[in-house]
Amino acid sequence: MKQLESTSLVLLRHHLKALRLPTITAECEKLARQAAADNADHLTYLLQLTELELLERERKAAERRLKAAHLPTHKTLEGFDFGARPSVNKLLLCELARCEYIERRENVLFVGNPGTGKTHLATALAMAACGRGYRVRFFRLTELATLLMEARDERSLLGLKARLAKLDLLVLDELGYVPASKIGAELLFDVISSAYERCSLIVTTNLPFASWTEVFGSERLTGATLDRLTHRCQIIETKGESYRLRDAKAKMRKEGTAEGGGSSDRDRPRRNALEGGETSS
Ligand code: ADP
Ligand code: MG
Repeated sequence: MKQLESTSLVLLRHHLKALRLPTITAECEKLARQAAADNADHLTYLLQLTELELLERERKAAERRLKAAHLPTHKTLEGFDFGARPSVNKLLLCELARCEYIERRENVLFVGNPGTGKTHLATALAMAACGRGYRVRFFRLTELATLLMEARDERSLLGLKARLAKLDLLVLDELGYVPASKIGAELLFDVISSAYERCSLIVTTNLPFASWTEVFGSERLTGATLDRLTHRCQIIETKGESYRLRDAKAKMRKEGTAEGGGSSDRDRPRRNALEGGETSS
């Protein structure tokens, strides 16, 4: 009898492996003992096993999506101090975290000075999208421009574009820090045009729209890019001073150091976020 049981078990494990059911393979004996002890019927036992398999699959898929998104850090909306950034509407961000804009293929643009939380919010929305099953990829704009140019030189541009075309959400962080070369700008424009109404874009920038020509080189390309990007788009301004600077000042005050000194170049706002816009306080 014992011999028969162990033969069935070996066969069962073999079948489960062939069917690619690793969680059921790992859990079936333990749950069978539990079911016997609880007097549970066969269908309840089968239900428990299949539920475990599905949950584990979903967990692994979410992990894979997060890894494939290449987020620079893990940030959440819960970790964002909305009180410190009154220009950002918390309700709107919570609504965006539900990802309906992705279903509608709409875009989100974060505009504001350095250190005001643009990358934080873009990353938080990207994480929320991964959690809801969307395919996401995060790039710093310069990184994507370089990748596109390398792919073009290696004649693998079509493959890269095909991979980008499979995304539901593409995040382009830091538009404006470095002007793209003419070819880079055209390749970026091509990515943005291809994404138009097929996938959602989140773009962060510290540049006013009037200065986008510095990145894209020509008025024509800038106009066409802005036209596609801002059609059906939420524009969110992160007005005010750098959060890091604020944090550093608060720490210095706590330590009794003179206020205002010691800010780094990186934290110093480079320019106003929008034409005639904010002054950093
Ligand atoms: P930006 O992309 O606008 O330059 P970041 O999003 O990189 O700014 O923010 C700089 C740092 O400050 C990050 O570590 C970010 O998590 C933090 N930060 C910025 N704004 C807030 C905020 N309102 N609440 C919590 N952390 C913030
Ligand atoms: Mg940033």
